Amino acid sequence: MHYKIFFFITAFLTMSGFKLLTKSKWEITEADPTIWIKYCSDMTNITIGKNDLSSKDPLSGQTVTTETALISIAKNFNDVNSSYLRFASYPADPANPGTPEVGDSTFTAEKAKNRTIDVCFTDPSSPFQGGSASLDEAGDSIIGCTILIKKNHKKSAKDFIRTLTHELGHCSGLDHPQETRNAIMSYFSDSDEARLMIDDKMGLVYLFPKAGVDVKEQASFGLSCATK
Ligand SMILES: [Zn+2]
Repeated sequence: MHYKIFFFITAFLTMSGFKLLTKSKWEITEADPTIWIKYCSDMTNITIGKNDLSSKDPLSGQTVTTETALISIAKNFNDVNSSYLRFASYPADPANPGTPEVGDSTFTAEKAKNRTIDVCFTDPSSPFQGGSASLDEAGDSIIGCTILIKKNHKKSAKDFIRTLTHELGHCSGLDHPQETRNAIMSYFSDSDEARLMIDDKMGLVYLFPKAGVDVKEQASFGLSCATK
């Protein structure tokens, strides 16, 4: 009996779960947690052609622009319980950053130098499926990330948000957990899903744990061999 439970837990742990892309990490802390997302000039203020997001999506039924999409994607990451990572839009005028709709007001160009993710459109004939992300690393630190999104994604809010969320997951440090469907980072997630899923959130909490979160605790999934 105990052997079977042990086998089940071991099998579950080895079959599922987020994967990390790199050992490097962003130099952010819970007290200073922001990474800025900067659109290339050809991506600003574009209205996405069709809103095909599911009815449960926070932007369902609304006109979606590249700006409103970015704010809602950043909010999705920022709302992950127990993860201190904060995304904010890179200010249009870095000299007068103002208060962002998401993230915080701590922007300075100097601070953002090694904490910016660049997002650009690219030609639809590029070989990758929808988008790509490439990390810029120095030693054990991530000091930048560049995301390319196919231009034809501006025709569909679902494609745009799904792809940008996935690529921002890579920029955060997550890889593809292909054994689970409960991750926007997996190639096998439901194609109607556009937002972070439970496995992605677990990965973010692992990478950016708020104080008091014990991410090394062994998961028991409610099973225990100990007598109560
Ligand atoms: Zn990917």
